[in-house]
Parts: sequence; C-alpha cells; structure tokens
Amino acid sequence: MKIKSVEFAGAIGQLGQQPPESARGMPQVAFAGRSNVGKSSLINRLLGRTRTAIARVSQQPGKTQEINFYRVRADLGDFFLVDLPGYGFAKAPKDLQRKWEGVIDAFLTARTDLVGMVQLIDLRTGPTPDDLRNVNYLARLEIPVLFAFTKSDKLSLMKRQDQFRAAVQKLEIDPDQAIPVSAVNGDNTQQLLDTLGDLLFPAADPAAAGDEEGSDGPAREPVDEV
Ligand code: GDP
Repeated sequence: MKIKSVEFAGAIGQLGQQPPESARGMPQVAFAGRSNVGKSSLINRLLGRTRTAIARVSQQPGKTQEINFYRVRADLGDFFLVDLPGYGFAKAPKDLQRKWEGVIDAFLTARTDLVGMVQLIDLRTGPTPDDLRNVNYLARLEIPVLFAFTKSDKLSLMKRQDQFRAAVQKLEIDPDQAIPVSAVNGDNTQQLLDTLGDLLFPAADPAAAGDEEGSDGPAREPVDEV
C-alpha cells in the first residue's frame, strides 16, 4: 500500500466524546503500545512524515492523552489511523491512568469500523507485564491484532532474531502475526504497510469499496495516480 496524503481529523479527549464524523463507515486501524515504545515515530514513518511529524514524538512520555484520528488517503482507498494513548507510564497518576483506560475501553467496545490493531512492543525488552495485560484485553474484545516489534535498529541481527523468537513465544502468537520494525532506518515499514493494506482492503479493489450497512459517512473516493 502506498500513502498519498494524511491529515489530522479529530480527537477524543474525554469520556462521552465520539470519533470524528468523517471516520464513520470508514475502515480504521488503531495503534497501541506502552508509552515511549516508539509509536509516534513509527506512525510518522509509516505515513511518510519523517520531516514534518504529524504524530507528536514525546518529549515527556505519558503526556499524549488523546485518541487521535488521522485520515489517510492511500492507493487502495481511504482509511483512518487511530493513535491510542500510550499506557504503562509509571509516573502518570493512577486516577489519570484509570480515566484513560475508561476512554479507550469506551472507544474499543463501541467500535464499528475498526478492522484491527497494531500492538507495538519494544524488541529489546520483549513484552512487559503491561503489554501482556493489554494483549489479553484486546483478545477478550476479539480484535484482530498485528504485532510490530519496535526499535529493531538498536539490536544486532543475531540479537534481533533471538528477541523476535522469544517475544513470539511469550505472546503465544504465530510468527506471521509479528514484524520487527525500525522507525529510524525504515526497516520493514513498507512490509507493515502492505500487511495493513490487506487488512483494511481485503478485496483490494477500489471500485468495490462502496458503503457498508449503516454508514452515512463519505464514500471512499476513486484513486487518482499522483
Ligand atoms: P511513543 O511515546 O510511543 O510515541 O514513542 P516516541 O515515538 O515518542 O519515541 C520514544 C523515543 O524512542 C524517542 O526518543 C524516539 O526517538 C525513540 N525511537 C522511536 N522509534 C525508534 C526506532 O525505531 N529506533 C530507535 N533507535 N529509536 C526510536
């Protein structure tokens, strides 16, 4: 899948707020991970925003406390990328953490257009207890999950392979569900985009990408080659 353009479409800042109207009826994919895992960096890299970031790379971990929606135009069709707040920041006050868990839970349980999630895990540490807790939570919600193991550039090739095997084993997942990536050198980011393209547009036929039931949102636009 090739990204053509991206724009910020809105955010959920507190309980009771709805996703932006423009996201209704559009395929959505959400990104989750513990704070500082490299989520903003990976999103910027995937969306081709390495010079002018669209997702804020954290100066202060744990500070990004909104569910952000980005409208993405790609060669296969339009979709929404949903950036969930990072979890597991030890210094965040407990009541604030609980508030955010509530906001995320409300969004995910009410989801109608979310086709799946990308769960980020730092390849150097492997899944932390917070990661495992989130993965179990997503499994309970029966959301399809793809795993991106971040910061692969920080490890030697040997170590990368060892860590990959260990993480897959700990998560009890199929290796095909996981991909090591680097936002710094772009390793495997196109592969991740292609996998997301398959998930978002299974028919991969823009002409067939019409409205599904219950949607009065905008229809996906035809593809122009740039
Ligand atoms: P977020 O809190 O999950 O959004 O994480 P950020 O994208 O803000 O990244 C946290 C820190 O990790 C920053 O200092 C980034 O520069 C660094 N970082 C993110 N991705 C990578 C990567 O792929 N490789 C390396 N070496 N550093 C990264």
